[in-house]
Parts: sequence; structure tokens; C-alpha cells
Amino acid sequence: MIALEALPSTPNTMLGHVLVVEDEEIIRETVALALTEEGYSVTTAEDGSEALKLVNQSVTRGGTSCKVFDLIVLDLMLPHVNGLDLCRLIRHDGHHIPILILSAKASETDRVVGLEVGADDYLAKPFGMRELIARCRALLRRSHYTKPPQPQTSQLTFNSIVLYPQECRVTIQDEDVNLSPKEFRLLELFMSHPRRVWSREQLIERVWGPDFMGDSKTVDVHIRWLREKLEDDPSNPKYLVTVRGFGYRFGS
Ligand code: CA
Repeated sequence: MIALEALPSTPNTMLGHVLVVEDEEIIRETVALALTEEGYSVTTAEDGSEALKLVNQSVTRGGTSCKVFDLIVLDLMLPHVNGLDLCRLIRHDGHHIPILILSAKASETDRVVGLEVGADDYLAKPFGMRELIARCRALLRRSHYTKPPQPQTSQLTFNSIVLYPQECRVTIQDEDVNLSPKEFRLLELFMSHPRRVWSREQLIERVWGPDFMGDSKTVDVHIRWLREKLEDDPSNPKYLVTVRGFGYRFGS
């Protein structure tokens, strides 16, 4: 195996992590290099059994489910376990990683068999590197859009203040607080980033939008209103704190 980048300990946050499975060194290295230059993180495997081990390792690392590969570029004619069997095994194990098959077998039947065992796309050799990259990109984009939605944070809590983003509702000690939409957005931003210091300009951009033409004192006015609604002693705030010379932060 030639690892251009070691398996990361956490899922890759770059463009994606691609596993290239190809026994012909020159093709393997050329594909790996082209994908690396496009910004992808790449791991390579020379045969089917090595690839299968990498895929299974990536999913069970640390005893928890952890998908490391976002895409597999898979040659069909491989030593030990061939590409079609590998594809079947990967799908049989329940992995949904997109698979792009590379093969010199370019007949329609070969393509159909490849797609039927669970591949998502098929590229016949010889192929142009630009087409390969474009297909990889398309597969990654598609899988990105079909990923199950991430669970949303159901609420933000700080001491006795609870903010429910989905319901646009805020409570203090279980009592509803009546906030305007701007006050709510401002508080949501603060509570999502406890202790982060925000300048007035940053708050304007995030809450009012980049087209806002008013004065940055608008922020001060809204902070004052929020303090009056949230703080026990608005003149001595413990939630919405002024950071002299910078702006505001949430939490003392
Ligand atoms: Ca081969």
C-alpha cells in the first residue's frame, strides 16, 4: 500500500478521502496523484483483500462506527479478491461508500454487471484523468446530498436559559421570554458560541445580513433590550457581557 496520507484519526473534513484500488502501479500512482492535486486525501491498495481490510478497519476503528472513505475507485482485475467480488463484499457488509469501477472490460455486459453488484459508476480504460476527476466529483456531490440529515441540536442551554432553535422559543426558569426575531437570532448566535467575542460588525453581518445599511449602534440597542429581558440586573450583566474595545460575548 502507498499511503499518500496516513489514515486520519477522525473523518476527513477536506474534499473527501478516496481509496484507490489498483494493482498496476503506474495507473494507481497516476490516479492517486491526480486526486491529491485536486485536494482529495488519498489512500491506495494494491489488491482486493488489502482494500477490504482498509474499508472494514475504517468502519470499526476504536469500536465505534467511523467512515473514513468517501469514495472508492476500484479496478476490476485484481489479485486475491477481484473488483466485482470486492464490490459485492463491501455492499454485503452494509457500506454505502460510492464506488467507481475502472476497467479494461468495456462491454455493455461488463458495465451492467459492475453496476448490478453495487458500483455507482463505471469508467472504461483507457480513460482521461479529467473525466475520472469529474466522475469522482459527481459521485461525491451526489452522496453528499443523499447523506442522512445530521441530528439537529434540539436546544441550547446556559444556566436557566434554554433556547429552542426549531421553535424560535426561549425560556428562563421554564418561563417563556418574548423576543423579537432579531433578538432571538442574536441570542441564538451568542448561545451557539459561548464565550466567543463578537465585534459589532460581525454581529451585524451574521444577524442583520451584509446588506444592512444602518448604524452599528443598532447592536448596542438590541443588546440592551436583551439584557432587560434576560438579566437579573441589566446594568451588571452576567450573560451578555461587554468586552471593552472589542464588542460582546455570551457568558462571564
Ligand atoms: Ca488490474
